[in-house]
This record gives sequence, C-alpha cells and structure tokens, in this order.
Amino acid sequence: MKKRITLLGSTGSIGTQSLEVIRAQGYEVAGLAAGSNLELLLAQIAEFRPQTVALADEAACRELRSRLSGVQYAPCVLQGERGIEDVARMPDTDIVLNAVVGIAGLGATLAALGAGHDVALANKESLVAGGQLVLDAARKHGARLLPVDSEHSAIFQCLQDTASAKRLEKILLTASGGPFFGMGREQLAGKTRADALRHPNWSMGAKITVDSATLMNKGLELIEAVWLFGLPPGQVQIVVQRQSIIHSMVQYADHSVIAQLGVPDMRIPIQYALTWPDRVPGPAPELDFTCLGPLTFDVADEETFRCLAACKKAIAKGGLAPCAANGANEEAVALFLRDEIGFLDIGRLVEAVVDSDSFGGAYTLEDVYECDRMARAFVHGQLQSL
Ligand code: NDP
Ligand code: MG
Repeated sequence: MKKRITLLGSTGSIGTQSLEVIRAQGYEVAGLAAGSNLELLLAQIAEFRPQTVALADEAACRELRSRLSGVQYAPCVLQGERGIEDVARMPDTDIVLNAVVGIAGLGATLAALGAGHDVALANKESLVAGGQLVLDAARKHGARLLPVDSEHSAIFQCLQDTASAKRLEKILLTASGGPFFGMGREQLAGKTRADALRHPNWSMGAKITVDSATLMNKGLELIEAVWLFGLPPGQVQIVVQRQSIIHSMVQYADHSVIAQLGVPDMRIPIQYALTWPDRVPGPAPELDFTCLGPLTFDVADEETFRCLAACKKAIAKGGLAPCAANGANEEAVALFLRDEIGFLDIGRLVEAVVDSDSFGGAYTLEDVYECDRMARAFVHGQLQSL
C-alpha cells in the first residue's frame, strides 16, 4: 500500500520540497492546504489529485471553487482556519505534514493529533506557543510527533539507539549564525529587509529567513527541542556551525558526541519524517567530502542578538512566556518586512514582551490565543517609543 500524506502549507518552501519528496517516493496525497496561493495550489491539485483541499483566505477560496468548476479533477474545497483543521483531521491518511508558517498552524497540529494522526512537524511555532497542549494531545491520542526542522531531525536521528537515548546528557543545537554573524549592534542597526532575506546556506520562506538573521529561529528551536526531547533548557547548548553541514549533535553520559551531517537540503529531514524508521534513497545529493572545506564552530552572541536571549528568558519563565515571545516576533517580523521598524527593533520588542509579565503556569488553548493577541497588541503599543 502506498503511503498517504496530508500536507498543510503545501505552497511554501517546505511544502513544495515535501511534494518533491512525495513525488520521488510515489506517495499519495490525501489532502492539501495553504494560505492564499491558488495558482500553485491548482497546479498541485492537477498533479497530486488530493481528495480535499483548503485555503485560509476566503476570497482565494471562492476563486479556487470557481476555477475548479468544469475541470477534469476537482477535490472537495474547504475554507478558512476551520477548513484547514478539517483537512488535518481527515481519515484515511498515514501522516500529516504541517508546514504552515506561524501560530496559524497550531489549530491544525492539534486537530491532526486529536484524530490520532502522526504529525511531521515543520511548524515549530505550534510547539513554541502551545507546547504543553501539543504534547498532551499527542499522548492522549497515541500519536507521534516527527521533527522536520533539520536540527531536530538530526537530534532525533542521533537518538535512534534507544538504549543510549536513556543516557542523553546534552543536546548540541547547531546554528548557521545567519547572514549577520559576527556583526555588532552599530552594523545591525542599518540592516534592511533585503539584507536580512539573504541567507548564506538555506533558501526558506521570508519569516523564517528573518528569524535566522535575528537568531529568533534558534531561540524558537531551543524551545522546540525542550518540548520534543524533554531536556531542561540548560542542557541544550547552541553551537554556531557556519557551514550548516553538522545539523546538530547529542552528547551522552560517557561524553561521547554523536552528530548528523549532510548537505543543507531540507528534503533529507522531510523525507526522514515521512519514512521513519526506514531510510530510503531520495532526491537530495550526497555530501562530497572531497570538496568540503573546514568546519568551524563558534559561540552565539546573545548580547547582540536579543531575540535569542529573550527566548531563553521565556523558556525559563515557562507558562505562556514562549507564546508571548512568538506572537511579538511574528508581529515584529511582519512590520520589519513592511519596512515599518528597524532590524534591532525586533529583538527589543520580543525581549520587552517577555519582561512585561510572569506569564503563569498551566494554560488552555483559549489562553494561548489570548496571549498571542496580547503580545501583538503590546508590539503596536510600543511603536511610538522605538
Ligand atoms: P513559507 O512562507 O514558504 O510557506 C508558508 C506556508 O504556509 C505556505 O503554504 C502558506 O500559504 C501557508 N500559510 C500561510 N498562512 C497560512 C494560514 N493562515 N493558514 C494556512 N496556511 C497558511 O514558509 P516555510 O515553508 O519557510 O516555513 C514553514 C514552516 O516550516 C515554518 O514554521 C518554519 O519555521 C518551518 N521551517 C522551515 C524551514 C525552511 O527551510 N523553509 C526549515 C525548518 C523549519 P500561501 O503561500 O498560499 O499563502
Ligand atoms: Mg532549523
């Protein structure tokens, strides 16, 4: 039987690379969902013939319905956040790959897990904003979370020896350092949208590319690692590995360190999440050691890159602090991408929201959304004083 995949965020960077893997493996697509890119979704429908699709954007969804009337193959079309959650919980699927960007993906992660589906998770914001709810849903419904994020896939791959995994002492979470590695605050102050969107090693969606430049991405990934692997934040060390060849490492009780290496190509971790525990040939090229230069290691500068410091404070505070940091960051990145705030303002705003409250302990889904709204409003309230 061919594997059946439901893919959320199919029109994005991870989404389209996931479809390359799906195509190469000859898997079937049960459902697709995206935000508003109906042209690309139409092409994907024609090629992969999903049973159901959803678009978050209402107008795009209406247009999609009209464009599908009279075509040879037309799936069932659902609309809005609810529609995307319905696609996530559809029966007759083996795994749901969530590659939606931002907290917009949280409802779908919970819906998929709630239906007992394993989730291949690229949408790290789900875990950052509502980690406890995501873990509780997975446990309650006997569903698995399979990491797609390259670092977390690397850690997961290094932990496959289950006898050793019990003796995990430390996670060494690698970071490329982004396009502004080594720069001070004076240099960073003038960085523009175009500068930030130029990543040295990876081609990704705009939001995560900015997150890589501010090191917010590494902060989000630290929180993601804490939830996925159950280690306290103090046992997750960030190591700058400029070439993005070592995707992360684990250290065991005997101080032996195991690393996962490969070309910087997301199709490797995407495929591993879909084939686990199996490994099969795939579309990514091999790592050529004959022309690989030196591998370098550095320390991340959180004095300069305040988003990373803010995420560390947030996970130490616990409760909804990571959700607030994430919400403030989503809003600040959107403002930066519209040239409405400066590069360093992103870190200022994320840190200020984390410092603004104690953020309590246990929370509900409603609390998560309320905190997200609060964090976004906080950002807008601070704009005058920047
Ligand atoms: P993109 O911006 O390239 O794609 C985002 C996808 O989400 C698109 O399909 C978009 O649809 C869809 N989307 C946007 N808003 C909504 C919404 N409200 N409801 C449903 N779908 C929506 O992002 P990436 O692919 O780069 O990143 C996706 C996720 O994967 C992020 O969480 C990111 O952190 C994570 N990730 C990405 C990596 C990468 O290499 N790109 C690496 C590791 C993790 P549309 O285009 O139609 O609007
Ligand atoms: Mg990553």
